[in-house]
Amino acid sequence: MKKAPLLLALLFLCSYAHLHAQRMCGIELTRAALIAKDPSWAQRIEQQRASQQGIADKYKQSLKNGAAQRTATVASPIPVIFHVIVTSAQFNQIGGYAGIQQRIDSQIAVLNRDYNAQNSDSVLIPYGWKTRFASSGIHFGLAHTAPNGWGTPGYELEIIPSTMDGFSGDANDYSDAKHAASGGLDAWDVSKYLNIWCINFTDYNGLLGITVSKSQCGGAGFPFDEEGVCVNYQAFGKRASTHDDYIACGYSTDGAPDYYDLGRTLTHEIGHFFEIWHTWGDDGGACPWSGSDLDDGLADTPPEADHKFYNYPDTIPGGTYYDACHYDGAIDTQLTTYGVASLDYMNYTDDIAMHLFTPDQAAMMAAQVATGGENNTLTQNPTLLNWPANAGVTEQELDHEVGIFPNPTTGALSIGITGISSLQQIAITNILGEQVFTNSEARLHNFYSIDLSAMSKGIYFVRCTFASGSITRKILLQ
Ligand SMILES: [Zn+2]
Repeated sequence: MKKAPLLLALLFLCSYAHLHAQRMCGIELTRAALIAKDPSWAQRIEQQRASQQGIADKYKQSLKNGAAQRTATVASPIPVIFHVIVTSAQFNQIGGYAGIQQRIDSQIAVLNRDYNAQNSDSVLIPYGWKTRFASSGIHFGLAHTAPNGWGTPGYELEIIPSTMDGFSGDANDYSDAKHAASGGLDAWDVSKYLNIWCINFTDYNGLLGITVSKSQCGGAGFPFDEEGVCVNYQAFGKRASTHDDYIACGYSTDGAPDYYDLGRTLTHEIGHFFEIWHTWGDDGGACPWSGSDLDDGLADTPPEADHKFYNYPDTIPGGTYYDACHYDGAIDTQLTTYGVASLDYMNYTDDIAMHLFTPDQAAMMAAQVATGGENNTLTQNPTLLNWPANAGVTEQELDHEVGIFPNPTTGALSIGITGISSLQQIAITNILGEQVFTNSEARLHNFYSIDLSAMSKGIYFVRCTFASGSITRKILLQ
């Protein structure tokens, strides 16, 4: 008899979970994959957790001593390249070329605000947490020079066949998406660019992002050219219009659904890229006093049993939310003032509920970017943020004003160009580099209808050359 209420409660929980997508991140999957490859990784990962505070303290002390420059504060932005790998339907779903451009532009703006304590929603941070709202000093920018020296809008696009849909996580780091040989796009030099792959995760419902950091690469770990972040193609960038397509979150405060549409998925994942952990420490619900668990290894994120979902009214702006690690009868009761870090970017709360990195988290990340840190080289190539000297075309000209569709095509291909007076040539080459089309008119038009149906099926490249640079798009003839 007594089991009936429990059963009802379970049924309710199951249906509730089904209706709402909770945030999920893949860092635990990558750690499990590393341990499966080589059991000694378990010890290495625990050592990493235990060393977090020491690294943060050392960095903070170096700033106090003036022994080190405020490297992260003055360092140039990290060049970011987005590898967008989607089907034609998914491409349309996120708004085509204009949608991708808007998402990457807004994502970079979100990262710069969140990593420098300039997010406007910080006004919602409760009083007790104000002193734990910190800036890492790390900046980001779209890459505008590609490894081959050509100009880039900051993303490259691969349209995959609809039969492919997306990528599975067999290797737990979505490695197929990171290699052209397996249908994805190769990383750009990981010592110079922060690589982000925007893809569909086909086998983990609710998975929004999965990161491979440098400490997980090399030896028996992941290959270095898989370093970077995979993000769900419906969860990057910041919403510009009510019509934009984003994944709905699990909780709403006002009846209307909230979405993962504020760019916080990448704020969170890039935290992992800079080696910080989830605030609860991925320890299966343990508290620091219940064993060797140190949670995330940082002192200023309060002990926390397990992740927090949604955006409950009693987390923000109420300011305190407790769980099983609230109080053990011996630990400082300051925890009762602050609650757990449900408002931290490294929790699982909704985009709308996340507001801060703590000083220790910020110091830990800044240490990776500072001189001697594992990500320092990313700040040493500021010219990659600039367009190449011969490419005076602006980002907008390149990406808002050149449209090639449909892609893939069965033969008919349209190329639309608006407002560019400096266009010199449109050429299409096959994968062997042989030119199969070039515009022959003395005067250029702004719209071309090209019939490729007599050509062999396969990959072709459309190159539009302007007085000041060129842009190349890959197309698939089916
Ligand atoms: Zn995570």
